[in-house]
Amino acid sequence: MAAQERLVAERERARERVAALERDFAGLAEAASSAGTDDEHDPEGATLAFERQHAAALLDAAREQVAALDAALARLAAGRYGVCARCGQPVGDDRLAARPAALTCIRCAAAGSRP
Ligand SMILES: [Zn+2]
Repeated sequence: MAAQERLVAERERARERVAALERDFAGLAEAASSAGTDDEHDPEGATLAFERQHAAALLDAAREQVAALDAALARLAAGRYGVCARCGQPVGDDRLAARPAALTCIRCAAAGSRP
């Protein structure tokens, strides 16, 4: 599959995930307010609070994924897709197949996100 099609398909999936997680999160917020629970002293309230934190973390990750795929598509449009954003070496087909939104090669990714 061409890089563009793959990225667009991945972004579509990531957007659907964001939408689904937003519904989950809204449902949890509603459950918490309708139950009128006390997060600190009611065990059920604590569980809901934990689930909301978990849902919020998943939602953040899904939104980041959409942003990463947008960035990858922008790089593709600029002719820089598949070139490491840090060292300028090829990212590698295997890595792009596994992580289409990867902006750095495996060596730079292993070195962490430090500049
Ligand atoms: Zn690199």
